[in-house]
Amino acid sequence: MVPGRNSADFTLPVTMPAMMASQQADGSVDCQLTEIATDRLPPGDVTIRVRYSSLNYKDALASQGHAGVVRKLPHIPGIDAAGEVVASGSPQFSPGQSVVITGFGLGSDQWGAHAQFIRVPAEWLVPLPEGLSLRQAMIYGTAGMTAAMCVEQLLANDISPSSGPVVVTGASGGVGSIAVGILGRLGFEVAAVSGKPAAAELLTGLGASRILSREEATDRSNRPMLKATWAGAVDTVGGSILATIVRQMRYKGTVTACGLVAGAELPLTVYPFILRGVRLIGIDSGFYPIERRAALWSKLATEWRPAMLEELAEEVSLQDLPAKIEEILQGKIIGRTIVRVD
Ligand code: NDP
Repeated sequence: MVPGRNSADFTLPVTMPAMMASQQADGSVDCQLTEIATDRLPPGDVTIRVRYSSLNYKDALASQGHAGVVRKLPHIPGIDAAGEVVASGSPQFSPGQSVVITGFGLGSDQWGAHAQFIRVPAEWLVPLPEGLSLRQAMIYGTAGMTAAMCVEQLLANDISPSSGPVVVTGASGGVGSIAVGILGRLGFEVAAVSGKPAAAELLTGLGASRILSREEATDRSNRPMLKATWAGAVDTVGGSILATIVRQMRYKGTVTACGLVAGAELPLTVYPFILRGVRLIGIDSGFYPIERRAALWSKLATEWRPAMLEELAEEVSLQDLPAKIEEILQGKIIGRTIVRVD
């Protein structure tokens, strides 16, 4: 048995399946499905049997041992988990309770959820929101929470459907597709920027009224401002697409920026900010305050729930992960990949 309150009929098995990234003799990093001893789990208040996890871009980087994501090797990736508490040293959580975790140090600072069990601090956990299954919670995962945080900021900055059209970049990806779905559900006129013609039907079903190619969304002139077009934006790609959008914002428009798949540079002048009052808001989902998470989850379970949540997900097993990691690194995945762990 593990320390604290244990479920009456539960004994932590001696080993568990886990995807483990480890350094090879030639210096390269390999991530493989392995049986590892559960007594190697990190210390923490709550032990959880993971039922579902998901695959995020950050997990793909972690599986390669990327130094910006992983503190030390060997490492188990997986920044999202949904499962049941099997042992708890915290009065807040009881054995048998269904919980969700996204971000904090899971899958980066400490071993993550591409494994049968995780052990984490109680203050990283949220009870599974009413109205969502464990599986549905992982269709959202970090991507869904990030999309929700972007929408929360648009609304907090007075951007409403009557303000004008909003644009979402990386629209077929995890964060982008859920952002399109939430904004569509809220009645916004949504333009989706996507490099994948095959995603058009999904994006239209989620609520996009217009689809732009990445080329159409990129202005390569040096003009400091462009035709005022967007009232709001959710940018998941950065680089010259984000720089184009900032220059295309309407007066007092708000841009939320969370990603960098197209580049970390931002070639801009200050003119959009000082002449149009444009707001550029950075989003960090990892350390979003725990006390505000349950309210955001509750919105995702109800009035922000995209029209086609189930259609966004492809379910894979731990064994399937290496192939899916290659796909997400090449920007080929449409929607969300959820990982069935049990
Ligand atoms: P995905 O890989 O699921 O989606 C990224 C999408 O970006 C792709 O599907 C593709 O969409 C588009 N894309 C890929 N390559 C390029 C390129 N070279 N130029 C322009 N667009 C490109 O990733 P996620 O949705 O999970 O994450 C998106 C970004 O947000 C990542 O950078 C990730 O690290 C970051 N992120 C940040 C968080 C935070 O807290 N700040 C939290 C979660 C994610 P399409 O083909 O439709 O254009």
